[in-house]
Amino acid sequence: MKNTFCIVASLLFVWLTACQSQPPFASAQAVTETPLININAASLEVTYLANEGFMVAGGGHKVLLDALFGKGLRHYAAVSPAQRELLEQARAPYADVDAVFATHFHDDHFNAESVLSHLTHNPQAFFFSTNQAADKLRATGKFEPVKSRVMAALPKEGERLRHRHRGIDVQLLNIHHGRTRPTENLGFIIELGGKRILHIGDSEAEPSVFQKYEVAKERIDVAFLPFWYFLNDESKRAVREHMQPRNIVVMHLEQDFLPGRTGHDNWQKRWAQIKAEFPNASYFTQELEKKQFD
Ligand SMILES: [Zn+2]
Repeated sequence: MKNTFCIVASLLFVWLTACQSQPPFASAQAVTETPLININAASLEVTYLANEGFMVAGGGHKVLLDALFGKGLRHYAAVSPAQRELLEQARAPYADVDAVFATHFHDDHFNAESVLSHLTHNPQAFFFSTNQAADKLRATGKFEPVKSRVMAALPKEGERLRHRHRGIDVQLLNIHHGRTRPTENLGFIIELGGKRILHIGDSEAEPSVFQKYEVAKERIDVAFLPFWYFLNDESKRAVREHMQPRNIVVMHLEQDFLPGRTGHDNWQKRWAQIKAEFPNASYFTQELEKKQFD
């Protein structure tokens, strides 16, 4: 126990030293080796929370992505107060979450108090996000007790940072949120139970970014992609050629797309086209809706 503590403490020191002036992953090397093929991979269970927020479970591991946020933004779904409380208190089914991810700090993806609360109630969980999100955590004045479990970084575009936590392999990719805006946005490739997921947050990155990262070689089992990737030929090409996921979850849907709303008919037409081109795509509309991916 003590040894474990020492190891954690020294790792923490390296981490924090690196934190002072530059991203803590700065010393990590960009690695591009071909991934191993996993033969006995467990299936993944994806639970939808809201917007781009999901819990993914597989091989005895659980992660939360873009799920710990507050009221969210107008036009997009937010987590209900009841689920938000369970998430923040780290109560079942979120008690045994191994890692929490936020692609960027915007209010429909991240909330500093929510993340801090979850980390406080769930001492095994690490939090992976951008430096901008870490700054928000720091600004609460309550960062100190959790900072050893906060992994914040923004690699150079084309470089990835790797981390292994509780049997989960994590890669952080710099997938930009529009080049004209300063928002840091990460893409995550996470392997749990031998299956790989990709979540790209609010990326507006063009095909060349995914090509540079050779995402297609990663053998992604489930890619979580915002709906705008299916609206024009260029971004569809990014999905088809440079990501090549086995399954696609389309996310960040507007509330207006839902049944009974004015945009629903339009969305239905759009969705029919998406399905024709990407038969492996699906989307979620109900909080706690689950899908299994083999
Ligand atoms: Zn967003």
